[in-house]
Amino acid sequence: MKNIRLGMTEITVPQNAFGALPIQRVTTDEAVSLLRNAYDGGMRFFDTARAYSDSEEKVGKAFEGMRDKVFISSKTGATTKEKFEEDLNTTLTNLKTDYLDIYQLHCAAKCYTEEDDIYNCLVEAKKQGKIRHIGITAHKIGVAEDIVNSGLYETLQFPFSYLASDRDIALVNLCKERDMGFIAMKGLSGGLLTNSRACMAFMSQYDALPIWGIQRQSELDEWLSFFENEVTMTDELKTVIDKDRNELLGEFCRGCGYCMPCTVGITINQCARMSQMVRRAPSQNWLTDYWQQEMLKIDSCVDCGICKTRCPYELDIPNLLKKNLADYKEILAGKPV
Ligand code: SF4
Ligand code: SF4
Repeated sequence: MKNIRLGMTEITVPQNAFGALPIQRVTTDEAVSLLRNAYDGGMRFFDTARAYSDSEEKVGKAFEGMRDKVFISSKTGATTKEKFEEDLNTTLTNLKTDYLDIYQLHCAAKCYTEEDDIYNCLVEAKKQGKIRHIGITAHKIGVAEDIVNSGLYETLQFPFSYLASDRDIALVNLCKERDMGFIAMKGLSGGLLTNSRACMAFMSQYDALPIWGIQRQSELDEWLSFFENEVTMTDELKTVIDKDRNELLGEFCRGCGYCMPCTVGITINQCARMSQMVRRAPSQNWLTDYWQQEMLKIDSCVDCGICKTRCPYELDIPNLLKKNLADYKEILAGKPV
């Protein structure tokens, strides 16, 4: 397994890291077991966030007494000094530590600079030793480019998978040029990509640290297996990637859920990508009475547009939902998938 150096932070870890968002959905015992097994299997970098409910507490419990053996990053969505301090103190308490390796502004709407209080809070926290490095996460490519060009951050976390555009790839290369660490979120593109070997092979071509979102031991086992059997790009995997890129590129929903809640209760993060899910997972899982009822809620969309203002990918959500519903109805009527 190749090691990744996160630019000027000098943090160097195997290119196989743990994204701790999904452990919110399992019990504390299950989460602690997953995290320790990840460590035992070779993972050294763990990414969490104040916004992931009890994820930080679970990470804190798993690594109590061995803080110096792992690297932990967390995030804050704060926009004021007071909230920043409250979040950072809560995070340190949850993680049972007195420092974070990287503290990131979460889902930044713009590149915050020295003119913004929130950036100065990061600088101050670093001076106090509460955080070792200053990071930021973004979903919009223009914002991400501004961040890298600003020279103010040590790491950038950005969505990166084998559906990446040339501009996304240029961003990763620009980070390398600027000696900035690149942390890759959504390496499975929100669950759309299912071939972990192809995802790992793609990632191995770049200076990017993937934080795979892991909820089950079976998922962890797949990622850990790459420590034993290193994956590199092959013609067979290139074929898998090319096929998926042909099917999935363009305007598609990544399932992140930032657009929610919907005014009328539509489960946007699943319904807006039903056409892909129904063709990729076992179809039957998405054709149940439950999902039929959920999809029919799309008819009640009042076109308020609130969801569109929240989508980091600037998708035309009401129309995307309508397209997915039309396709879904045809599938229910017998169209082959
Ligand atoms: S535009 Fe439709 S889908 Fe979006 S929040 Fe409003 S009602 Fe929900
Ligand atoms: S519509 Fe946009 S914000 Fe909503 S789940 Fe999909 S990608 Fe995320």
